[in-house]
Amino acid sequence: MIPFNKPFIAGKELYYIAQAVTMGNIAADGHFTKLCSRFLEERFGIKKVLLVPSGTAALELAAMLCDLQPGDEVIMPSYTFVSTASAFVRVGAKPVFVDIRPDTLNIDETKIEAAITERTRVIVPVHYAGVACEMDTIMDIARRYNLLVVEDAAQGVNAFYKGRALGSIGHLGCYSFHETKNYICGEGGALCINDERFIERAEILRDKGTNRQKFFRGEVDKYTWVDVGSSYVMAEILAAFLWGQLECLDSITSRRREIYEYYRAALRPLAEAGLLGLPHIPADCQSNYHLFYILARTGEERDEMLRYLCDHGVLAIFHYVPLHSSPMGSRLGYRLGDLPLTEDLASRVIRLPMFHELSMEQQQRVVNLVNAFCRESASISA
Ligand SMILES: *Cc1c(COP(=O)(O)O)cnc(C)c1O
Repeated sequence: MIPFNKPFIAGKELYYIAQAVTMGNIAADGHFTKLCSRFLEERFGIKKVLLVPSGTAALELAAMLCDLQPGDEVIMPSYTFVSTASAFVRVGAKPVFVDIRPDTLNIDETKIEAAITERTRVIVPVHYAGVACEMDTIMDIARRYNLLVVEDAAQGVNAFYKGRALGSIGHLGCYSFHETKNYICGEGGALCINDERFIERAEILRDKGTNRQKFFRGEVDKYTWVDVGSSYVMAEILAAFLWGQLECLDSITSRRREIYEYYRAALRPLAEAGLLGLPHIPADCQSNYHLFYILARTGEERDEMLRYLCDHGVLAIFHYVPLHSSPMGSRLGYRLGDLPLTEDLASRVIRLPMFHELSMEQQQRVVNLVNAFCRESASISA
């Protein structure tokens, strides 16, 4: 069986974990946490990066920092991971779902303005597959209506929009280092702070509601309880693993690019014959090649293709069940039919195996099977 994903060692991850232990600090905010945060800040032009336990935790911290009141509205796509929405629902806000673009599966920026009401406070663009949302338009809308922008860049680490790193453009940004992402440490994430106003409170919320970070810097003579926080720190053992990955950022990305481009070139004839759809990277966007998806012609054909690939030893998988169509979505008042493009596209997505150690021979097998399925299903429907 060719798996969909496989965690991998890119360099010195295990050596650095051993080093963290011998250095005598495996809790939070030690040597490796500093190396990782400084690297992300400098390389991606982010004012402050805080390592956290997951992308979900980064979104939760971001939602708390937005200081929302019950009933405030947050605009986001429905085609996203649950945490994008649940982070805001936890603080009493209501997600307002906007349809997506068929070319990138990102939020359709031309439909955002119509969703704004006087309760709107935040826009959450989700950079799907490591391809940027149309950030100039989104930031312009946010400025005109005085809204905050929280980028869900969980899939967007080391991807760029007009030369700017994803996560560095909105007021706040969220990264994930979950084992299914590009650069990993098992479970992990980072909160990116681009608006200085949020730095002090973010440090406090992340550290149990205390001003311990100020104490460490010698700015106060003892630390104490100052806000309602929780523990949103990453253990040094994981930061050590992550540092091993970040040192290999470029080689990990170029390996993914090779895989992406091979799939794209090999499947182009099927796309030209109208048998499937391929992903698109707009000219302003530099991808990190987080995932490679294809679009079947119908939802039914998608399900058949998944079964066919699975029967032949390839674990390809679908992606998000749109949030508005979930049980929580209906509790929030949404109905099937509310977001026609999201519903159609989500039902046709297939993600192909994509991981560092995927061999050329394995990739050829995947391509051959997709070819065989599409040709066969074309001859049946002809
Ligand atoms: C992976 C992901 C998350 C959650 O990240 P975790 O580290 O798994 O908590 C949130 N949003 C998007 C778009 C993701 O892909």
